Amino acid sequence: MLDMDGTLLDLAYDNYMWREHIPAEYARRNSMGEAEAREMLSAKFRSLEGKLQWYCLDHWSEVLDLDVKALHRRENARICFLPGARDFLQVAQKHDVRVLLVTNSHRDTLEIKTEVTGIADFFDAVYTSHEMGHAKEDQPFWHALYEAEGFDRETTLFIDDNPIVLESARTFGISMLLNVTRPDTRWPAREHRDFPAIESVASLLSQEPNPPALTNLELLIGAD
Ligand SMILES: [Mg+2]
Repeated sequence: MLDMDGTLLDLAYDNYMWREHIPAEYARRNSMGEAEAREMLSAKFRSLEGKLQWYCLDHWSEVLDLDVKALHRRENARICFLPGARDFLQVAQKHDVRVLLVTNSHRDTLEIKTEVTGIADFFDAVYTSHEMGHAKEDQPFWHALYEAEGFDRETTLFIDDNPIVLESARTFGISMLLNVTRPDTRWPAREHRDFPAIESVASLLSQEPNPPALTNLELLIGAD
């Protein structure tokens, strides 16, 4: 199970959208300074952080009176894979292992990101928190996913860049967890000590170029 933003795709895009582009657009529309708009919006965002609404483009379009989906599409040239993530997915796809995208992303951003990167096509199934009715931070999400997918908590590996989400997965009983520590390439790796850490999923690929293999991942989940 793989998270999308900050695990496979560079979080630089999302950080740019929510911290810079959307506040700048909001400031322009409401004739206010950009710094003031950034401060105001960041308080609004913080109040819902980690909740399903926080991830919801429709919610923010309504609250901010902006077409947030159109703004995302206009800046879609900034969407990209994290270094090595595309290679990782290509190799994972060739292995006899079920690969799932498990994301808090809203369907509109997933759609735009798939248009640009083709990311959804790498997976056997895609699960979004909006479909499940709960964010990954909350236990009901995992119960709903378990209902839908029937995965084995002992043999499933889940990779995410968000420690709160990883904690939620651990509470549900998923034992193999990995924390991506460099979700945004514009910033250095973060320090987290609660979970086994990798800077990027590319580090799960064997260093042997031929044939590419998931040596480290095989050790973890026994894939072949
Ligand atoms: Mg993430």
